[in-house]
Parts: sequence; structure tokens; C-alpha cells
Amino acid sequence: MTKITEHIRRANGKTLFSFEIIPPLKGESIQHLFDAIEPLMEFKPPFIDVTYHREEVIDKKHSNGLIEKVSVRKRPGTVGICARIMERFKVDAVPHVICGGFTRDETEDMLVDLHYLGIDNVLVLRGDPEKSAGVFKPREGGHAYASELLQQVMQMNKGILLHQETESYPTSFCAGIAGYPEKHFEAPNMETDFKYLKMKVDMGAEFIVTQMFFDNARYIEFVKKCRQAGILVPIIPGLKPLTTKKQLTVLPRIFHLDLPDELVKAVEECKTDKEVKQVGIEWCIQQCKELIEFGAPVMHFYTMSKSDPVKAIAQAIF
Ligand code: FAD
Repeated sequence: MTKITEHIRRANGKTLFSFEIIPPLKGESIQHLFDAIEPLMEFKPPFIDVTYHREEVIDKKHSNGLIEKVSVRKRPGTVGICARIMERFKVDAVPHVICGGFTRDETEDMLVDLHYLGIDNVLVLRGDPEKSAGVFKPREGGHAYASELLQQVMQMNKGILLHQETESYPTSFCAGIAGYPEKHFEAPNMETDFKYLKMKVDMGAEFIVTQMFFDNARYIEFVKKCRQAGILVPIIPGLKPLTTKKQLTVLPRIFHLDLPDELVKAVEECKTDKEVKQVGIEWCIQQCKELIEFGAPVMHFYTMSKSDPVKAIAQAIF
């Protein structure tokens, strides 16, 4: 296992390629995931991120007509998928570790599993709220903010467990955190968001992965502000090529971002989603060229476990 920061250091200024995948829906074959990863391996990603999806409350209809609310994890398997990726593709896997749906004890057990598997890179996040709740609520005995979860990870790196009096074998997690070039939607302003970002870096976070953005000026401004605030860790831009017209309204709603006017106009002129996909690919290629010129350490793609658009972009860039 190589730390993300070490991968970046070894690249010696050359921009790396990496991507994020999401676990398949429970009941689907893992082969679909491998089929999505395989075409991207020729671009030599040193690491692949695997998202974590908390439980959702769904309505289960019984034969007598009664409806029962049940809590299900629709996309479990993050830890197992990471282990399979490392074994099959010989690259590092970065599991996303979230506060949502976990108690501190459950988090500790997950981190112990990762440690035993030799998975030392983690992306530490608060996690999305439960879909039915709308706002984030921690589990009783769980963490409310990513910084609290990060604190737990850092304690384990010092050999300190939750309920153990004596010192344990220390882990060596290299923890990344999320950054929002267009502000986290709950933060009252950018300055407050920066305050907590800086707090997490000061606590020991070693790299930042950004929310997707479509206007490079937002990333560049974000990096400059981070550097001014003394946040000196690598800032990995998260990129997503647009593929459908619907995303013009869906992405701003879900990810709280702005789409540049030029991109919106180009997409609106498309007659089919095939044309939108082409516009999305070309826009993202241009983004990558400028970001590489700016010195971004890694081009990190949100694939949603679909490889074609990202492959087309990587072919043009790497
Ligand atoms: P936090 O750092 O906890 O911040 C949340 C909000 O609280 C911010 O507004 C912040 O300014 C504020 N804040 C932070 N610390 C404090 C504090 N100590 N006191 C008061 N306020 C504070 N979600 C998933 O469920 N699964 C995933 O796999 C996943 N992967 C992601 C990957 C990336 C790269 C990104 C950018 C996001 C991802 N998300 C994922 C979504 C993420 O969990 C949400 O955006 C979530 O709302 C915030 O997560 P965070 O880690 O930034 O939270």
C-alpha cells in the first residue's frame, strides 16, 4: 500500500489519473463493476476510490396491504470491493468512510477491518443525510462531523482505541477529506467552510478531494484561498463529464454547484443525449488541459461506474 501523498510525490509533478466508482446495487454482480474499471486501467490509476452508501428507509408492501418502513443498504460492500480491486488490479483502493449510519464503535471495527486488509488510504466524510430525513442526523453514539471521525482515525494512528486502557498497535491511515470550491451547501459562508477545512488539515488530513465543478476558475480560486489560509496539502480536483440534458438541473440541485453559461448553452442546443455526451467530453478535456497547466496533482473522475466518457477523456489527456 502506498499513501496517496506518496503517489503524488513520486509522480514528480506529472499529473496522475484516478477515478471513483460506486458499489453495485445489492444483488447485482460485481463483474459489472470490474467491466467498468477494466477499460480505464490502461491509464494506470495509482488509486481508485470506492464510495460508501448509508442505509435508506424504504416502504415495504406486505401481502395484507400494510406498509412497513424498513431500513436497507442498497449499495453495501465498500470494504469487500476495495479488497477485490487491490487483489485484481494491483492498485490502491481508497474507501470512503462516513459518519452517517455508524456508531463510533462500528467505525472503529470498520477501520480495524481496513487495517487488516492493508488498506491505509481513506477519504473521511460526514456522508449524505438519509434520503427521507433531508438533514444530516448522526446515529446515537456516532459522529456529527467529518472532523470528529477524523479525530478517531488520528487516535487510532496513535494506537488509541475507544475502550482500551493500554496502547494498541498503531494504524497508519493516510486520511483525505472533501473540499468544496463552491462552498458546502450548509456552510453560512465560504470563510466558515474554510475554517473547518483548515481545522481538519491541522488535525492531520493529508489531502483534499474536491466536489465536482465545471468552471475551473472556482477550483483555482479555491486552491489559492487554501494556500493563503495555510492549507498546503495536495488538492485533487473532482471531475465529471456531463452525459445527459437532465443533468443541467439535477447536478446543481444535488451537488449545489453552478454550471457555466457557455456549457449550458452548448448542452441546450443538443438534440440527443449522444450529442450531450460529446459536449460533456469536450468540455471536460478542456478542463483537464487547463488544470494540468495549473499544476493540479491528479485528474480524479466521478465515473458513476460508467467508463466510456472518462475513457474518451483519458485518451485525449494521458
Ligand atoms: P463536514 O466536514 O462534517 O462538513 C459538513 C458541514 O458542516 C459543512 O458545512 C462544514 O462547513 C460544517 N462543519 C464542519 N465541521 C464542523 C464543526 N466541527 N462544527 C460545525 N460545523 C462544521 N457522501 C456519502 O454519503 N458517501 C460518499 O462516499 C461520499 N463521497 C464523497 C466524496 C467527495 C470527494 C465529496 C466532495 C463528497 C462526498 N460525499 C459522500 C458527500 C459528503 O458526505 C457531503 O457533501 C456531506 O454533506 C459533507 O461531508 P463533509 O465530509 O464535507 O462534512
